[in-house]
Amino acid sequence: MTIRLAIAGAAGRMGRTLIAAARDQNDLTVVGGSEAPDGLARSGELGLTLSEDAGAAASEADVWIDFTSPLVTLSALDALTLTPVRAAIIGTTGFSAEEDDAISKHAERIAIVKAGNFSLGVNLMNALIEQAAQRLGADWDIEIHEAHHRHKADAPSGTALMMGDAAARGRGSPLADLRLPPADGITGPRKSGGIGFSVTRAGGIVGDHTAAFASDAEVLSISHRALDRSIFARGAIEAARWAVERPPGLYSMRDVLSL
Ligand code: NAD
Repeated sequence: MTIRLAIAGAAGRMGRTLIAAARDQNDLTVVGGSEAPDGLARSGELGLTLSEDAGAAASEADVWIDFTSPLVTLSALDALTLTPVRAAIIGTTGFSAEEDDAISKHAERIAIVKAGNFSLGVNLMNALIEQAAQRLGADWDIEIHEAHHRHKADAPSGTALMMGDAAARGRGSPLADLRLPPADGITGPRKSGGIGFSVTRAGGIVGDHTAAFASDAEVLSISHRALDRSIFARGAIEAARWAVERPPGLYSMRDVLSL
């Protein structure tokens, strides 16, 4: 069976990466793409008909893949109700709690896989972090360090927060209860059982993440380094293949990878 994909924000950094990755696969075909009015002129360069209207872009698609921005994604999900799309893969980050609720509503109708990071490596790493946090007691400090290029606007990164969530899950508490304030000035001793975050912003680093588990006598570090955006596209494509066969529901990459 050939799976027909429609790509939201097709001319964006992730949109272009997704189109290239999908065209390498024999079982996938890209049948449409959406863009903002400014991006429509890139249709020729992408070799794809682009539309401002998500419903038109998805009119012949089985799966919608969306790495855009929260309002764009939510309005596309509304438009998909009149299309044959039966699964949506959402990589957009930065949704509010209310927007997350709206996505859950759509997941009563179609299968949705949503993840703040689609890389197989990061999702596998998070499963290992959860396992380690479960196994190692509160006398092991957990510190999550991330490094990104000098242009990145937010800190800690969404991926670092996913890692913190995984560690907190392993310790059986919400991250909000375990998260330590940023270290600066006279901090006093570290609070036992807390999860700390430290951040580097420098040069052109694509994305480095490490969770360190430190006792008095040893340090276990679990690390991931992103070298290329294609890792996110490959994960999203894997999610598309998985989700197209699934009943409606809200899924994560942990489900896709059976972690
Ligand atoms: P980008 O700005 O390069 O691409 C977004 C595209 O959406 C642009 O081409 C823009 O013109 C288009 N767009 C804007 N309004 C639109 C509309 N109304 N209809 C259709 N298209 C519209 O951004 P990017 O670097 O590709 O990242 C996009 C999102 O994906 C961000 O939220 C980013 O954080 C997220 N992201 C997630 C992962 C992950 O693994 N989950 C990985 C990378 C990026």
